[in-house]
Amino acid sequence: MPAEPRTPPCTYRHRGRRAGRRTRALPPSLRAAGAGLRDAITTATRGAAARRFPRSAARHDGRRGRPRPFLPPWPRGAPGGGRGRARAMATSRTFLKRTRAGAVVKVVREHYLREDIPCGAAACRLCPPRPAGPGPGLQAQPSGAASSLCPGPHYLLPDTNLLLHQIDILEDPVIKNVIVLQTVLQEVRNRSAPVYKRIRDVIQNPEKHFYSFTNEHHRETYIEQGRGESSNDRNDRAIRVAVKWYNEHLKKIEDEEKIQVIFLTNDRTNKEKALEEGITAYTCEEYIKSLTANPDLVDRLACVSDEGKEIESGKIIFPEHIPLSKLQQGIKSGHYLQGTYRASRDNYLEATVWVHGDAEENREIIIQGLKHLNRAVHEDIVAVELLAKDEWVAPSSVVLQDDGQNEDDIENEEEKENILKTSVNKDMLRPTGKVVGIIKRNWRPFCGMLSKSQIKEARRHLFTPADRRIPRIRIETRQADTLEGQRIIVAIDGWPRNSRYPNGHFVKSLGSAGDKETETEVLLLEHDVPHQPFSQTVLSFLPKMPWSITEQDMKYREDLRHLYVCSVDPPGCTDIDDALHCRELENGNIEVGVHIADVSHFIRPGNALDEESVKRGTTVYLCEKRIDMVPELLSSNLCSLRSNVDRLAFSCIWEMNHKAEILKTRFTKSIINSKASLTYAEAQMRIDSATMNDDITTSLRGLNKLAKILKKRRIDNGALTLSSPEVRFHMDSETHDPIDLQTKELKETNSMVEEFMLLANVSVAQKIYEEFPEFALLRKHPAPPPSNYDILVKAAKSKNLEIKTDSAKALAESLDKAGSPTFPYLNTLLRILATRCMMQAVYFCSGMDNDFHHYGLASPIYTHFTSPIRRYADIIVHRLLAVAIGADSTYPELTDKHKLADMCKNLNYRHKMAQYAQRASVAFHTQLFFKNKGVVNEDAYILFVRKNAVVVLIPKYGLEGTVFFEEKGKPTPRLDYNNEVPSLTVEDTTLHVFDKVKVNIMLDASNIQHQKIRMVLVEPKVLGNDVPANLSTEISSKNEPQKKKKKL
Ligand SMILES: [Zn+2]
Repeated sequence: MPAEPRTPPCTYRHRGRRAGRRTRALPPSLRAAGAGLRDAITTATRGAAARRFPRSAARHDGRRGRPRPFLPPWPRGAPGGGRGRARAMATSRTFLKRTRAGAVVKVVREHYLREDIPCGAAACRLCPPRPAGPGPGLQAQPSGAASSLCPGPHYLLPDTNLLLHQIDILEDPVIKNVIVLQTVLQEVRNRSAPVYKRIRDVIQNPEKHFYSFTNEHHRETYIEQGRGESSNDRNDRAIRVAVKWYNEHLKKIEDEEKIQVIFLTNDRTNKEKALEEGITAYTCEEYIKSLTANPDLVDRLACVSDEGKEIESGKIIFPEHIPLSKLQQGIKSGHYLQGTYRASRDNYLEATVWVHGDAEENREIIIQGLKHLNRAVHEDIVAVELLAKDEWVAPSSVVLQDDGQNEDDIENEEEKENILKTSVNKDMLRPTGKVVGIIKRNWRPFCGMLSKSQIKEARRHLFTPADRRIPRIRIETRQADTLEGQRIIVAIDGWPRNSRYPNGHFVKSLGSAGDKETETEVLLLEHDVPHQPFSQTVLSFLPKMPWSITEQDMKYREDLRHLYVCSVDPPGCTDIDDALHCRELENGNIEVGVHIADVSHFIRPGNALDEESVKRGTTVYLCEKRIDMVPELLSSNLCSLRSNVDRLAFSCIWEMNHKAEILKTRFTKSIINSKASLTYAEAQMRIDSATMNDDITTSLRGLNKLAKILKKRRIDNGALTLSSPEVRFHMDSETHDPIDLQTKELKETNSMVEEFMLLANVSVAQKIYEEFPEFALLRKHPAPPPSNYDILVKAAKSKNLEIKTDSAKALAESLDKAGSPTFPYLNTLLRILATRCMMQAVYFCSGMDNDFHHYGLASPIYTHFTSPIRRYADIIVHRLLAVAIGADSTYPELTDKHKLADMCKNLNYRHKMAQYAQRASVAFHTQLFFKNKGVVNEDAYILFVRKNAVVVLIPKYGLEGTVFFEEKGKPTPRLDYNNEVPSLTVEDTTLHVFDKVKVNIMLDASNIQHQKIRMVLVEPKVLGNDVPANLSTEISSKNEPQKKKKKL
């Protein structure tokens, strides 16, 4: 049974859920006034006179919902009963709508038409003045590129498809003064959320002069759907009517030069109709090509295949895709299977499809060969048909890179496909299928580099994406000479049946390959880290400066400003989300408080700021850059618990005895005033000082004393401590991620803060789970399956050591004992190996899971409460806790376990990608380091032994790399792998795990897109003299997380 949330002291004003859901985050200038004008929905089943003008929701933080047109406010003080009703004319639109439950209801929407919607032209005196925001409106003298087709001043008006497909062009700074109709905007919103967001951002950009015209509410541009007219045709007509109206309207403006509105459409029929009606209309290509001063723009045109265009060059290569409706029938009947398409990184002719649903068998289907892959792209949702059993294949172990230049050389492909069909053992065969249709494309813009055509002055070139799982893409560009050697972004437009590669267009250049800023941008894009500056809409939800704490803020809050609170962080930390205090109570017990930034006070559910934060999910820390989850005003100022300023906090306060046993726990929203922002070193110095005895120092000593007891108890209970001061990177006790590669010495104060954060997280987890057993957001760390430990156990055994793995406690204890007086580094190596056996910790919703255990911390329950500035999970936990103690109100999504589970999925994904991005950033900086350093020889230890390589760790740099023993085009050395020991014999030399070796390290820049660190074994010498020439290596485990996973 889901627990009923407590009655909130004040609600988020979601009276009438329907109303709330329909409200969109409007720009602030429109938020209040826009509420007055709302389509009233009445459903036939519920009676005609249902709630009209539900105004409540729009006032506050808009929730997600249907598209809201940008409407001007009703004029102030208008006569009549309603606001400005006198100037509005009501009509009604009736349509059928399918409800969630599947019933069809008749919806009558009262639709108000108005005369006071401005055209947006700056020179117009006929329309009422344009309200402030969003966006700047159309210029009186349109600036922008000169067109040879229409030399006079003009505005552009695109139709829906043009906007959907050519958004890259419309975003170009050269394109200005564009009218975006409400009809178009609504259609775009329904068809592509990302494009909708992009166009909204463009409309708000003051440089672009895009104007959103509310044609559907304008008395002269609104049209009824005709009998027998499809809604598509009706919308096309509505757009043409608006163009005509604009042209007539603009003629009335008394100006020397008349401004013309040009209709842009790629739809042949629509264009013909427009021309018949006397409208100037061009296709996007015609217009863009007429901008003769900007020839490069042509590159950014999407090549969308109009009907007829596809049969351009002869031979059909691929089978037809089955249409969606038939696919859905087939999936229902079980004839086809639906799944996510995962291209192989190593072999471009192979992929797997992960079938959705719970079916145990046929979960993973192999697809082999170009025709069976049938134009699916990595991450697409596809439908597959299983092949007959006698056609099943085994996963190939061949590495095949698509390096063909001649794209029409299909025979060659067929030859390559035969390589895959090597005879295999019957039990190696796996379910095999072919892609019969695409359910959903998941194309995104791809980073990569141009592979310039060898044909002189060719315009068509192939683009090679950085991600090997993405096929090469054919683009047209005249700038090939400039773009060569640059990292560029390309979007896929389509993949016709007669084309070996998908067609796409150039979007933009990121800069020269190898350049630090370019490469950072690439790794952010490739790891799907949202990193654009926060939009105006998002920023509009920030508190207005100067900010101060109001009377209202003090409600439900305790004033704790008198306490000696301080924060302890790494040097240079500006996003301080935790602070602590400790004091002796009169009864002799100790009070300890953990105070966490009250981010959920500033980020209210459902508004644009909240949506952006949940999408980002986490702050991403790269070597030289931080990508914030929330805008800087919050992260580094209002939420940051800096010293000597009043800050809002969420406090967890314990009463403890001197044995660090918790006697009482309470939670409260609070206001604090930190007395000091200290670094770990400063805090340590105070604790150790013989002369300092001020309140802060006393408080720190108290905390430190308790933390030591807490830590000991935690470890006695079986928590793992895999970090070691000898390793040059510090491991996070909770996630086992390396936090800092350069931390040499850990101070007691590091672990002091950590102990109390862990304790607060456990206390909060208990509280929210007790209060909301069905929808508490928790974090678990599953115990690894026993087989994960094989590698560790075997490696230890080879040194005559025993590692027990039946429990975390047994593991921790045997690791403590494992050591060798003659080999002090051995223990560190064992701990490093142990971290590799671990599973990922994940967020989950308590109502959707049974296993809560946190293995690494040996805690039955755990969550994240202490870093709401940089982790979104903590914000949800804050909201849950606030509802639990009656300090804030709930909202529907917070108590919906399915929504919560979906959110956890996204957060887990974002955290994983953030981690990969961090590793990639470290790998890139390692490369830079060795580029400057040149070739060096260093001591290393063998961490893993593989069939054809060894993985080594170089303690001096905390760097890991793989030494391979075979190379393309070179004679293969004799390799003998023994899985039991484990060991690898290369010619006459046998290598074991933990062997100390010497390696030669250098940067291999031969492939500019995939630079890598090469490592070659120098000692022991395993081959002839010309060692470096025969061996190659790469840092595989660091920059290719996917591979690493397979190894474990
Ligand atoms: Zn006007």
